[in-house]
Amino acid sequence: MNHLIKFFVMKSGYISLMLALLLVVTIHAQKDISFEAYDPISTLVVPENPVIKAKFPFIDIHGHQYRMPEQDLGPVIEAMDTLNMGIMVNLSGRSGEKLIKSVQNIKEHYPNRFVVFANIDFEGVGSDNWTANAVRQFETDVKNGARGLKIYKSLGMRYKDSEGNRLAIDDERLDPIWAKCAELGVPVLIHAADPRSFWDDFDGDNERWLELKTHPRRKRSDTDPAPWEQIIGEQHNIFRKHPNTTFINAHMGWYANDLGTLSDLMNEMPNMYVEIGAIIAELGRQPRNARKFFDRYQDRILFGKDSWKPEEFPTYFRVLESDDEYFPYHKKYHAFWAMYGLNLSDEILKKVYYKNALRIVPGLDKSLFPDE
Ligand SMILES: [Zn+2]
Repeated sequence: MNHLIKFFVMKSGYISLMLALLLVVTIHAQKDISFEAYDPISTLVVPENPVIKAKFPFIDIHGHQYRMPEQDLGPVIEAMDTLNMGIMVNLSGRSGEKLIKSVQNIKEHYPNRFVVFANIDFEGVGSDNWTANAVRQFETDVKNGARGLKIYKSLGMRYKDSEGNRLAIDDERLDPIWAKCAELGVPVLIHAADPRSFWDDFDGDNERWLELKTHPRRKRSDTDPAPWEQIIGEQHNIFRKHPNTTFINAHMGWYANDLGTLSDLMNEMPNMYVEIGAIIAELGRQPRNARKFFDRYQDRILFGKDSWKPEEFPTYFRVLESDDEYFPYHKKYHAFWAMYGLNLSDEILKKVYYKNALRIVPGLDKSLFPDE
């Protein structure tokens, strides 16, 4: 490049120098494209077996329908049928009147295709009778049709008690709630914290750099609101303290990228189940290791998706079912890497897709699923 500039300067002076610099800048701009813009189309030619519809009917243990008290469930059912989803567990069942209305809507239209989990508002923990009231309300919600309890990540991240302190997940004032779930025979699905990378420095070493760039409010730190290990540790504490309560750890407890540690936790806490919502890209980048994990813990892994985007489910099916290599994931900010199929056996697929959920969530219609 330098000799080109010298040539122009010698030949025709200042104007040519400017033109040459412009040329250099342009060439440089083409070479130095942004990370977002670099999205190369794979040239690899290998067998491709996309899976549009799950091989067996399945239960989505981690669904969200936020307008269920009044919404027309028809379009949701239509998409569910396309995917082969037998039952959706709507974790946003809320409480009280809203929950009653959702259950009513289900009963009137699709009585065996949806169930709801209740939610608890942790505002005001520490004020008079908060715990007794919360337990009583949850009991009523279960009587009214809730099949479990969903705890959002706001517990541990956002809620404060009546004194203004961060409400820890393992706060003793919440113990009667976890105990009540065991007594009523309903599971708790709990999402705690967020991916570890959100607590790490926002720089080129961070695997979630793109997600933090596009969603800057997801960035956390040791003081906003607390260290990741602490919040996750609080979650494990309640699992240990309530061995008779069934806990479904959402998003594989954010250990899908470290299945060795997750195995240790599974071994230590037999009442902990995991679901795979939003972490399929972690499994799809370690197909051999993940397959071993599914072999070992086949009775305690559940299918879940989280956000209701029907077009994203086929990636999940393909990772679980196929033997395909190096196929694309649907969201670059979760994964800038490609997927590989785990090629799970039919026996394990059935457990993950529906058998495990049928066992731990009460009152699901078994007739929707093959029984062998
Ligand atoms: Zn969720």
